[in-house]
Amino acid sequence: MTKASPRVKQAIDLATQAHDGQLRKTGEPYITHPLAVMKILQEWNMDEDTVIAGILHDTVEDTALTLKDIEAQFGKDVAFLVNGVTKLGKARKGMKDLDEYLPQTGDNLLKLLIATGQDIRVLIIKLADRLHNLRTLGALPPDKQKKIARESLEVFAPLADRLQMGRVRVEIEETSFKYVDPRRYEELEKLTAERLKKANKKLQAAQNAVEQALKHEHIKYKCDGRVKSIYSLHKKLAKYDQNIDRIYDIIALRFIVEDTTTCYLVLGIIHSLFHPMDGRVKDYIAMPKQNGYQSLHTTVITNDKQIVEFQIRTREMHDYAERGLAATFFYNEQKLTSAYTEGRVSKLPANLLWIKELQESAAKLTAGEKIDQKKLKLNLFADKIFVYTPKGDIIDLPKGSMPLDFAYRLHSEIGAQCTGAIVNGKMVDLKTKLQQGDVVEILTTKNSKPNPGWLDKISSRHARHKLLSQLHAILPDFKITTSSANANKSPDKTKTSTKRRKRKK
Ligand code: MN
Repeated sequence: MTKASPRVKQAIDLATQAHDGQLRKTGEPYITHPLAVMKILQEWNMDEDTVIAGILHDTVEDTALTLKDIEAQFGKDVAFLVNGVTKLGKARKGMKDLDEYLPQTGDNLLKLLIATGQDIRVLIIKLADRLHNLRTLGALPPDKQKKIARESLEVFAPLADRLQMGRVRVEIEETSFKYVDPRRYEELEKLTAERLKKANKKLQAAQNAVEQALKHEHIKYKCDGRVKSIYSLHKKLAKYDQNIDRIYDIIALRFIVEDTTTCYLVLGIIHSLFHPMDGRVKDYIAMPKQNGYQSLHTTVITNDKQIVEFQIRTREMHDYAERGLAATFFYNEQKLTSAYTEGRVSKLPANLLWIKELQESAAKLTAGEKIDQKKLKLNLFADKIFVYTPKGDIIDLPKGSMPLDFAYRLHSEIGAQCTGAIVNGKMVDLKTKLQQGDVVEILTTKNSKPNPGWLDKISSRHARHKLLSQLHAILPDFKITTSSANANKSPDKTKTSTKRRKRKK
């Protein structure tokens, strides 16, 4: 498609000239990098302007080429995108000009997004750039490797996730995690392989049974097995006390069918063959995940007593899950964002509406308008709130968090010694739900101790975990009925001696 176009060729020539004589850390000519970025963008079916901007993305920063040159040869759009990527690089170094507007924001992802929110394609080029840098990370010294890998886990993987680019997210996570914690990576890799080997026969039997039933019903399908990525297994194990037996989706069988109705039909067929596990049927078609992911999930116990997760989705859902925004571009076959800004597209998919908000905020920023921090309603973080310490450090917490969640997030000692909280300058009850943008101050007293009554005043898993271990330490006969893994489900009734219980107001 775009590959052979004269404009793309022209861009390749220009970039090759501009980077002439420069080498990458790998020892290769520098041009190999922009060309690799180009390839990635082409794989993602990005429009030609984006591909060209990808080829030229490092020229303004690292060569004699200017934005004017680029605009003269390739037009405003390409120049705009290259400028965006360049600014983003600068923004990430100093983030100076943004600090003027957002003095309190310490959150990189937020800044990153605002810095570039004018056109989502800038972020996509940056993702492609980061992806290639990760693929060639081996050439850098170890301390740099770790730093870049960690940043990729913290900033770029969530970004890919928000753009629904599942496949990219997984690649970023897997590659980065290998550098951040190579031993753990290897350990989990082995563990997964062992599990796979052990379950293989039974899985095959389950797959055969389903396939036979589908054929009998004349349902067209594609089936593949998917093994949980190492990094998500690592994250999940942390949630489940490192108990791998409680993780049922290490291996899943995925069925891709033609339409939504067939998805439900297949679910029914699977449930008629095997016993579904209680509470493990998830309808992400009717209720998509926050990033727009759609699929039916069910975990069943097969006749061989093997626990298997099935995922059922349409081809289009599968494409979105794997390629996300890139798939959106593909399906729409137009420059989604600029077309949107110019009013040529009336409808963004509902799950991508945050892009619009981001663009509006960014437009204000570039117009020199100051933005009220609280008006930056980033739906991007719909499951999170950002609150501030009195010093202006930004802390992200799950929605529904209360002052004690905040306190424990700062430090477990601050949590333990909490005697009260001031939110936006006012004393509040510890049961107050924190809101986006609140400034929270925790009052502490040295000898103050946590008490079991606090369990009702905490909603995050993290704080609950910390509190429980403190309670166990100071109250030897402290017992709790529900396991801490259900922390978010039900605020537990605590059965405990209440001799030390103090009411905190
Ligand atoms: Mn680059």
